[in-house]
Amino acid sequence: MANFIYNAYGRYLQEKFGTRVHKVSVHAGFTCPNRDGTVARGGCTYCNIVSFTPENARPRYSVSDQIEKGIAFLKLRFAAKKFLVYFQPYSNTYAPVEHLEVLFRDALRHPEVVGLSIGTRPDCMDDEKFAMLAELAQETDLTLEFGIESVYDETLRLINRGHDFACTRNAVRRAKAFGLHVTGHTILGFPNETREQMLASTEVINTLGLDILKIHNLHVVRHTELARQYERQPFQLFTFEEWRDFVIRYLERLSPEIIIERLYGDAPAELLLAPRWNLSRAEIVQGIEKEMQRRKTHQGRLVQHSPSYAPAVLPQT
Ligand code: SF4
Repeated sequence: MANFIYNAYGRYLQEKFGTRVHKVSVHAGFTCPNRDGTVARGGCTYCNIVSFTPENARPRYSVSDQIEKGIAFLKLRFAAKKFLVYFQPYSNTYAPVEHLEVLFRDALRHPEVVGLSIGTRPDCMDDEKFAMLAELAQETDLTLEFGIESVYDETLRLINRGHDFACTRNAVRRAKAFGLHVTGHTILGFPNETREQMLASTEVINTLGLDILKIHNLHVVRHTELARQYERQPFQLFTFEEWRDFVIRYLERLSPEIIIERLYGDAPAELLLAPRWNLSRAEIVQGIEKEMQRRKTHQGRLVQHSPSYAPAVLPQT
């Protein structure tokens, strides 16, 4: 494909809906089994819910009010025409299936909402929930988003994730078996992983069957266990120049069929302890894209075989 550098989510949405589509984040009042003691207490070491909850998406407003406010804001700021409701903070399938169905169907009542994106943990799904979402997906655009974070069990243990990678693999496979569209969210830069191991993880990501991937560099956010660890003993985090080089090498190893929704992580400036790049979104994204063009490279350049569902062998952390 001429001029193909990576499979960008924005272009995918534009082609699918024929217009600008933006996500409206909502907080539906869920919690998370990794915080309430069901799996663990304290949550993942990097997690500060406030850091990924926009001001309009706070539980003091009803979900329908959050949708109204979010749409009004996005129309003004980006001239957006259609919207996907993004159930973002916490684990948005951590409730009985009957409650979830009512919640998700209510969100679809707004005439400018064309679909749902539902973020959750892989251990918060079962076949009843998959079947309900599969039925809903017949009626609207629906994406189920799993936090993968790392493919390495040792990392998942160190960040107190509360599940192993086999749990993620099984959840993604089950979702695909139900015909669902699946997004994965991965974090690169945990201090116990070498950059070679992070690059090698693409071999596993390519076999999962993901439709969409969010690639985040590790951020240290205030009021988290990771921030306490960092303040006790600072560890290396990606500078922008290092990330630009790394994420290009990561994309080169990633299947070109996977749609890329995020190329870096983000957190409100007042909560971000490190790294502080002091660059705008456009500067970061364009910086990566220009460097890919300069190198004459593209997503999937180093992928040898078509993605398959065969398990890949990984180096040990
Ligand atoms: S990152 Fe997600 S799974 Fe981990 S503690 Fe926070 S809400 Fe729970």
